[in-house]
Amino acid sequence: MEGSQNPQPGSLNHPLRVAIVGSGPAGFYTAEQLLRAQGRPIEIDLFERFPTPFGLVRFGVAPDHQKIKRVSAAFERILNLARFRFLGNVNVGTDISAEELRRHYDQVVFAYGSATDRRMGIEGEDLAGSHPATAFVGWYNGHPDFVSERFDLSTERVVVVGMGNVAMDVTRVLIRSPDELADTDITPYALSALRKSRVREVVLLGRRGPAQAAFDHGEIKDIAELAGVDVLVDRDQALAAAADTTGLDAGARKNVQYLAELAERGVTGAARRVVLRFLAAPAALAGEDGRVHAIKVEHTELTRRDDGSVGARGTGRYEVIQTGLVLRSIGYHGTALGGVPFDERAGIIPNMLGRVTEGKGGPVLPGVYAVGWIKRGPTGLIGTNKSDAKETADRILEDASTLAVEPSPERSAEAVDALLASRGVRVVMVADWRKIDALELASGKELGKAREKLCSIEAMLAACRAANS
Ligand code: NAP
Repeated sequence: MEGSQNPQPGSLNHPLRVAIVGSGPAGFYTAEQLLRAQGRPIEIDLFERFPTPFGLVRFGVAPDHQKIKRVSAAFERILNLARFRFLGNVNVGTDISAEELRRHYDQVVFAYGSATDRRMGIEGEDLAGSHPATAFVGWYNGHPDFVSERFDLSTERVVVVGMGNVAMDVTRVLIRSPDELADTDITPYALSALRKSRVREVVLLGRRGPAQAAFDHGEIKDIAELAGVDVLVDRDQALAAAADTTGLDAGARKNVQYLAELAERGVTGAARRVVLRFLAAPAALAGEDGRVHAIKVEHTELTRRDDGSVGARGTGRYEVIQTGLVLRSIGYHGTALGGVPFDERAGIIPNMLGRVTEGKGGPVLPGVYAVGWIKRGPTGLIGTNKSDAKETADRILEDASTLAVEPSPERSAEAVDALLASRGVRVVMVADWRKIDALELASGKELGKAREKLCSIEAMLAACRAANS
């Protein structure tokens, strides 16, 4: 064990040992900030529950957004850095606990994102044919937790609840020609299901108006520019929203102007269509033999809340939309990790600028940090995590200068490796990931695709073994 003469981590002869839990953008950007810090030796172990790194870049970003996925090239460079280790296939919480991490590391950063979805809380939500959009995203992206999901694409109309960027992603994947997805890294079973799909219409429900849509301009534009797809929006609603943009931010202004343009453009009679329904809130799902066959929608009107923000209230007027598949795309929600404080309502680890606190507004838990969605909630684009990571990394570095720790043999890479080995955990290191990566890229190349993903942990581990023999 180094540093026996100097118990201060971060001093020149005692590298600071930091564990980061979660290998999505927030985890990698934090690692980058810490490794870049001048004059302070830092060793980082980055834990990931899957054998593959990059979190939502691999499992969340849509297959037809390959450009966005290129951010992983920057993360690949971090994987190569000395003083950085990728420990894949290690489940923090079961293979090693949060308490154990605190014993083995000077500082621990939680960057494990928001693993579940929010619920609508309406009747019929659990009928067959009603799914969270996150499951559909995980399914087409080969997320091991969702590969065995099934979606009924024999229905002609799908209803997507919510008007955010995830709603845009699932709508695009459902409605665009499968031929346009064929050379991406979409999973083969999803491509095959989409080729057989009878879906001709996707209806999106926004409970507020066009000015409150949560999607970005570029995302709705991508859909409107798809070949063979019409986008329908209520002309009166769109023109009214565009006529008064007072108080709107630049993004909302751009959205309402574009929606008005779409409304004016009208339809071409294309074979497939996307219908944007504003001022329409989900009220209940109706089923037959346990399967959804319709969604009851309540018309809403905008209200001004006490804090000045715009809300929606029901008008008591309803309509029923027939559908065999409902995807709720109303946001993600974080989950608790044993031994780490958690704010159930917000779905985040309570923190002050990244320093974890014992409950909201409570005292700081020394040496424990949060970053990304589990710190701030499921908002923002991938790049948002860069500034978020800087905020947390700055706190980590600030605290490191005063953090006194007893040197102990437990605070070493060898001790962590021995603990995991004693529990039979097959840790996937960077060399193993390189084998998985090479195999996926090579199979993709043969098929004329960006990548052919391995979709189960077993297949990923087999790839590591096969390449060894
Ligand atoms: P989001 O942006 O928060 O959008 C959620 C949508 O669901 C909103 O339209 C919201 O309406 C609606 N909603 C919430 N609760 C509802 C309820 N009970 N009933 C009906 N509607 C409800 O979430 P997201 O789409 O999951 O995206 C998460 C984050 O990832 C966002 O920051 C997004 O920009 C990002 N992302 C980006 C991309 C990209 O860049 N291409 C792709 C995917 C995701 P209200 O506004 O009325 O609450």
